[in-house]
Amino acid sequence: MESSDLYPVTRLAAAQEATAAAGLDALLLTPGPDLRYVTGYEALPLERLTCLVLPAEGEAFLVVPRLELPAAEHSPASRLGIEFVPWDETDDPYAAVAARLGRAGGSVGRVGLADRMWAMQSLRFRAALPGAEQVLAGTVLRDLRMRKSQAEVAALREAGAAIDAVHAQVPGFLRAGRTEREVGRDIADAIIAAGHSTVDFVIVGSGHNGASPHHELSDRIIQPGEPVVVDIGGQMPSGYCSDSTRVYCVGEPPAGFVKYYEVLQRAQEAACEAVRPGVSCEAVDAAAREVIAAEGYGDYFIHRTGHGIGLETHEEPYIVAGNTEPLAPGFAFSVEPGIYLPGAHGARIEDILVCTEDGGERVNHRPRELVVV
Ligand code: ZN
Ligand code: ZN
Ligand code: ZN
Repeated sequence: MESSDLYPVTRLAAAQEATAAAGLDALLLTPGPDLRYVTGYEALPLERLTCLVLPAEGEAFLVVPRLELPAAEHSPASRLGIEFVPWDETDDPYAAVAARLGRAGGSVGRVGLADRMWAMQSLRFRAALPGAEQVLAGTVLRDLRMRKSQAEVAALREAGAAIDAVHAQVPGFLRAGRTEREVGRDIADAIIAAGHSTVDFVIVGSGHNGASPHHELSDRIIQPGEPVVVDIGGQMPSGYCSDSTRVYCVGEPPAGFVKYYEVLQRAQEAACEAVRPGVSCEAVDAAAREVIAAEGYGDYFIHRTGHGIGLETHEEPYIVAGNTEPLAPGFAFSVEPGIYLPGAHGARIEDILVCTEDGGERVNHRPRELVVV
């Protein structure tokens, strides 16, 4: 896929328009998903300041350490036709940003900082622009980032296919007598082999560890008859992320487990079925929760039903009670209800969905039935 489809040059103007509409004087975007979304530039997050300065009116410019200039010039940011402003080791780049912003538009009242800007940088900006109120750039960029373009949806499908290919290999890695860590190493290798550029997380929760939703890996030895929760994901070279959970059982599963796994499967299906434009995020959460609560497992579903996904594994919109945001075509998020019985075992089923014109499209297609290995 061409980066010009995934990171179109028109984004800069769209972000500038949104900045003006939100009543901000400028966005200050340091390396991270906000900068990559607007420019395509996957800059290294370093203590030296790299920052896209996007004023509500006037020309955007990229402040960049001189030693990073060649990398910036070879990045997709070079297509944007913006000025690159290199700074030398003894310069104060924060003062330079403040001076240029002041020159362009008089006083600077409100600036939007990249959501993932480091505190050391946001505090330097506070000192350099003492009169400016600092807000999150996400308040401006969220509406753009939530509505995935066709190219972004294609990138999420590609990520989904890659993680599905890893899940297809998991039965070959799992057997009684191996530790979670040994299985996790095989999975991490497979995540890279399937085309991801980084492994973001590998959760192998065997037996009672499966009852801790974000348990990662331990030296616990997997026992016969144990359910194992496998939740894995990574980032593709495109920048877009994968995230999918399936449950495996090493040998015949415990009777109580089979009972609630069936409930969980129905709950996940109900939430996926609820997805369509205009339906609120909290209604999707409720669709899963009602099925689980009706069967008496409500107290064991201890997290929200899902999270948005794109350039970050967790981003807006969150599929959670209280979020009345209506879904719209292009919204991408996980549907991942879980049931966790402390001290015993747990289960979660997770697919990434994209809201379409009239429903939801899953990008993960591995069977959702309990896989006995
Ligand atoms: Zn999670
Ligand atoms: Zn997950
Ligand atoms: Zn997830």
